[in-house]
Amino acid sequence: MVDFALTDEQKAIRDTARAFITDRVVPYEPEVLRRERRGEPGMTRDERRELQLAARKFGFWGLSTPEEYGGMSLPAVTQALVWTELGRSFVPFSFGGEADNILYDANGEQRAAYLIPTIEGERLSCFAITEPGAGSDAANIKTLARRDGADWVINGEKTFITGGNEADFAIVIAVTDPEAGARAGSTAFLVDRSMGWTSHFIQTMGEGGPASLVFDEVRVPARNVLGGVGQGFELGMRWIGRGRYLIPARALGAAERLLSMALDYANTRETFGKPIGENQAIQWMIADSEVELEAARWLVLRAAWTVDQGGDARHASSMAKLYGANMANHVVDRVLQIHGGMGYTRELPIERWYREARLWRIFEGTDEMQRLIISRDLLRGYTRIGLD
Ligand SMILES: Cc1cc2nc3c(=O)[nH]c(=O)nc-3n(C[C@H](O)[C@H](O)[C@H](O)COP(=O)(O)OP(=O)(O)OC[C@H]3O[C@@H](n4cnc5c(N)ncnc54)[C@H](O)[C@@H]3O)c2cc1C
Repeated sequence: MVDFALTDEQKAIRDTARAFITDRVVPYEPEVLRRERRGEPGMTRDERRELQLAARKFGFWGLSTPEEYGGMSLPAVTQALVWTELGRSFVPFSFGGEADNILYDANGEQRAAYLIPTIEGERLSCFAITEPGAGSDAANIKTLARRDGADWVINGEKTFITGGNEADFAIVIAVTDPEAGARAGSTAFLVDRSMGWTSHFIQTMGEGGPASLVFDEVRVPARNVLGGVGQGFELGMRWIGRGRYLIPARALGAAERLLSMALDYANTRETFGKPIGENQAIQWMIADSEVELEAARWLVLRAAWTVDQGGDARHASSMAKLYGANMANHVVDRVLQIHGGMGYTRELPIERWYREARLWRIFEGTDEMQRLIISRDLLRGYTRIGLD
């Protein structure tokens, strides 16, 4: 049976999320733009927290967080629907009550010190695997942790770490057994900023921006190993894999909003005595965008559905990430074109989305890495062409 309909519960959650985004998040947009254009963060940590607590009253708290930790533990399909709603605004906001998926591998003491305060929004984490010499090729990381008595001592540099300038602890993947290599010989560490790492903001073409983290003889107690010694690479890949269908879900929301802006403009902007939407050139841009949006929507939902079925969602998630990120880049480019000179100005948020969307093709696995995964699955027979 193929059923493309959402359940009443999925629709209700999506509609409530949409109402919250429209009524409470979208009104921040003009101020976010003004601040970012002054070089300030679009939203302060306190403002985000206040909004997250307001959303909690609506029931939105911990979309992926297990109920025992006060979360909603939503199925993946419902999470994808909510992330699409979040994507409809460029305000740097997401619902609270979330923690990095691999923090659930923490032991009892670590859960109290890291997992629960992160869920509650009292502590901010960042995840650090990428290094100046190792991005796509993550198995080439060189940051070293050497054992010294009851501690580990970390030396190395991480780069492009989202939230790295604000976080008060980092989940760091470091090599603990150089002979085994990074894949078999890496370990994840929970490293407080107070243990001595430093961060440096990296200016990018987007707003906000990641940071580089420097570890110079940073001493970490052995009790801060996350999971087991030697499990770091596997944990790192699990961290990256989790978001693969959520990034295109958010991109989808942005593209939906952008396309609706293009429709309004095409119907109202007149040239040569008629709305520009009466020209086939504009109509084709609208049609192509709608088709790509629809295709991306089903790739995202198919990947999320596979997660909910308990299946291996890596292939489907890679297809959703690759196609969804590219779709959003095509759509924002067309929408900017439809707006003409106005699209290029900083009076409208289109140019902001244009810059942000470029990142979606790069982080958490570049286009090329997704293509590598998809083609390898087929060439090695892990996945078959067509439906099972
Ligand atoms: C804003 C931002 C936020 C980020 N956040 C985080 C974070 O929170 N934590 C974290 O650890 N990392 C983070 N990253 C890092 C990100 O995951 C890497 O930038 C990404 O994986 C690519 O690695 P790289 O930049 O080293 O590019 P490279 O790996 O050097 O690749 C350069 C180019 O070569 C291509 N390429 C590489 N190998 C192959 C191949 N075998 N075949 C074909 N093409 C290939 C790539 O696709 C790319 O186009 C972030 C990056 C950015 C820009």
